[in-house]
Amino acid sequence: MKFCSACGKPVRFTVPEGDHKFRYVCDACNTIHYENPRIIVGCVPVSGNKVLLCKRSNEPRKGYWTLPAGFLEKGETIEAGAMRETLEEANAEVVIDRLLSVYSIPDFGQVYIFFLAELSSANFSPGVESEAVALFSESEIPWAEIAFSSVRFTLKKYFDNGSLQQTAVYVGSHGIVNDPDLPGNW
Ligand SMILES: [Zn+2]
Repeated sequence: MKFCSACGKPVRFTVPEGDHKFRYVCDACNTIHYENPRIIVGCVPVSGNKVLLCKRSNEPRKGYWTLPAGFLEKGETIEAGAMRETLEEANAEVVIDRLLSVYSIPDFGQVYIFFLAELSSANFSPGVESEAVALFSESEIPWAEIAFSSVRFTLKKYFDNGSLQQTAVYVGSHGIVNDPDLPGNW
């Protein structure tokens, strides 16, 4: 950040008085610009023993497979956001079953929240951000072509431990979970 979003004047990167972290501070209007993580919501859309994945048509990670997910919008619940993203990216309608995973990426300032959801029908197709969508059983999952560590974590936990009957919520984080299967960069 170079300029204050409140008044347009230049900001300084400094530790405000009484604080302990560096913040962007505007001396003109005295606004402190706190930077908080963004929430990304998505679904693990399930049909029988298969999970719906989307092949990304945009960077980052173009051509890699992901679960339908995206930034939560102001004014919507996390469930509504997850269903909206599933509709946008896979043209798929789902019924949410339960919370499945929460995954933090402190370095990027992101928190992923995934719901386990049942596909309402066999009707799905690529949305604007997907070049393909398809159902995968556990043995068919293209593990080497999964876009993000949050998606890999969630799929792995789902297939290792999950089913529609179980109720565990899996909490993970990038760079903290010592999991050799998680790639270093994503
Ligand atoms: Zn200002």
